Amino acid sequence: MKNTRKRATIVLGAIACIIAVSVVTNIILAVNLKSEKNKTGKYTTEINKLKKEKESLAAQGESEAAKEEQAESEKESLAAKNEELESTARMNGIREPLDENEKIVFLTFDDGPSDLTPEYLNVLKSYGVNATFFVTYQPDYEDTYKQIINDGNVIQIHTATHDYDTVYASVESYMNDFNTAYDYVCQVTGTKPTYFRFPGGSTSSYGKSLAPEIARQMRAKGFDFVDWNVSVGDGSNKATKDSILQKVPKESEGRKHIVLLAHDSATKAETLAALPQVIEYYRDNGYTFKVIDNNIDMSFAQFIDY
Ligand SMILES: [Zn+2]
Repeated sequence: MKNTRKRATIVLGAIACIIAVSVVTNIILAVNLKSEKNKTGKYTTEINKLKKEKESLAAQGESEAAKEEQAESEKESLAAKNEELESTARMNGIREPLDENEKIVFLTFDDGPSDLTPEYLNVLKSYGVNATFFVTYQPDYEDTYKQIINDGNVIQIHTATHDYDTVYASVESYMNDFNTAYDYVCQVTGTKPTYFRFPGGSTSSYGKSLAPEIARQMRAKGFDFVDWNVSVGDGSNKATKDSILQKVPKESEGRKHIVLLAHDSATKAETLAALPQVIEYYRDNGYTFKVIDNNIDMSFAQFIDY
């Protein structure tokens, strides 16, 4: 009997012990779980916070992009308006006149581009000056047109064919020839010439009877022409470096604003040879080198009224 009670006590004690251990274990587990839960909760909050920050940054970014886009579109519309105004001004003959007190020379080269043109460009570059090229239509020289522009020079239109009989056959014929060169230059260089030079000049015997009518019709389309007031004389094949270097100072003397006519076609090696000293002459005599851009009033260099 005594033994039985003792065994029962031991069994009960053991059970109590097991229960106690189990309770303690559960409590510990529960506490741990709670702390893990708390941690997870904290992480979730952090993640949500970061998510919100990211969203707000993205929204900010979007609004910045939208603002930028708006500014870009405003800029474009202003540029378009500006171009429109400039074009209207040109059509009405409102261009910027030259400063009366400034000595200015416009170097102009006709009939190119040719194999010699890159050498002309090198000379210009070495003196840090720019010129205006009245070009013909020479699709084999696409890179040269581009280089003329990339070097900071200006391209205006001379003629596509330079064939007097074709060009001056009629006003319509002149326009067709002009358009061939004009369209090509626009396409290759991205620039839009507004000045042109008559083959032979506005008073040449070839175009004399047609030139005023051509000039009027071209003006209605927003184009105007430029002749010259000093020539290096290389229209003649007899011109030499020496003859050029004598002629240029003689004809330039006393002139404040000069449009110098020269050529950069393949046969004009003498002109190329004279070019450095021609540039030095103008530089040493206080002239500023300018290009004939679309906003300058060049009417002082026109032989005919129209
Ligand atoms: Zn010419």
